[in-house]
Amino acid sequence: YRPTRAVLNGPAHFAASLKPRANNSHKGSYGDVIVVGGARGMAGAPVLAARTAAFGGAGRVYLAFVDDGPAYDSMHPELMFRVADRVEFGASAALVVGPGMGTSRHAHDILARALDSQADIVVDADALNLISAEPTLQHKLHDRRGSSGEIVSIITPHPLEAARLLDTTTQNIQNDRPQAARMLARHFNAITILKGAGTVIAFPDGEMLINPTGNPALSTAGTGDVLSGLCGALLAQGWPLRAAALAATWIHGAAADRLVAQSLGPVGLTASEFIPAIRAVFNNI
Ligand code: AMP
Ligand code: MG
Repeated sequence: YRPTRAVLNGPAHFAASLKPRANNSHKGSYGDVIVVGGARGMAGAPVLAARTAAFGGAGRVYLAFVDDGPAYDSMHPELMFRVADRVEFGASAALVVGPGMGTSRHAHDILARALDSQADIVVDADALNLISAEPTLQHKLHDRRGSSGEIVSIITPHPLEAARLLDTTTQNIQNDRPQAARMLARHFNAITILKGAGTVIAFPDGEMLINPTGNPALSTAGTGDVLSGLCGALLAQGWPLRAAALAATWIHGAAADRLVAQSLGPVGLTASEFIPAIRAVFNNI
């Protein structure tokens, strides 16, 4: 049995979720994102994810810091900074957990609390590393369900994070990326975005798509945090998880392609500059 390996060849795959904004809408109509991360000395990653969540259309964006972080983002004072210990993870806000989170015991406990919630969640970066190291967290991820039993988790590993999750080598992952993504999706009952050139999006039911957008301009620090923030933005806006994963992956790559066409890459693109291009692609679909 070989699952289909279709190509995610454009917005047709998620067009049904692209709805115009109603004139009488307000910020509450577009949902909340809570980015959970930011261990001491690693504030940049969650800030990139949170900025992207705002540029991706979320109504309100919070940053919940594991350790004491900055008080606000002077470039984007609309982002709201909190201490993770004092933030409750209900079912309504979309969670993006892991950017710059570190792997401390404290980070572990906050992650466990996030996994226990019924919220739509994007699990990235150090949250994936914590899960790799700890069977209890693996079970928590696997057992997550929404209130109607639906899948509520997206994981976004790069090849090394995928190797840790499957207890194998990066080379093994890269030798058969579709197979690795499929195993992750099944094993953790989570939509899996296996990143890197030719990002694979795999679903727990065996469906799989390869993303054709993106280029080596993205091979720089912070671009993964941008992807997880964009996923969070779409989830907050009520997109089904499947459409959110497909659209975030496609738009992320398309934004990088657009910047290369404008000579802002492939050499020297930075994650911060990349965020506004995501907004531009989104508004032009
Ligand atoms: P991370 O490693 O978590 O920072 O994520 C890097 C992001 O950049 C992922 O979305 C990758 O898919 C993307 N990326 C990195 N290198 C390439 C490449 N050569 N071609 C396409 N996408 C890439
Ligand atoms: Mg990353």
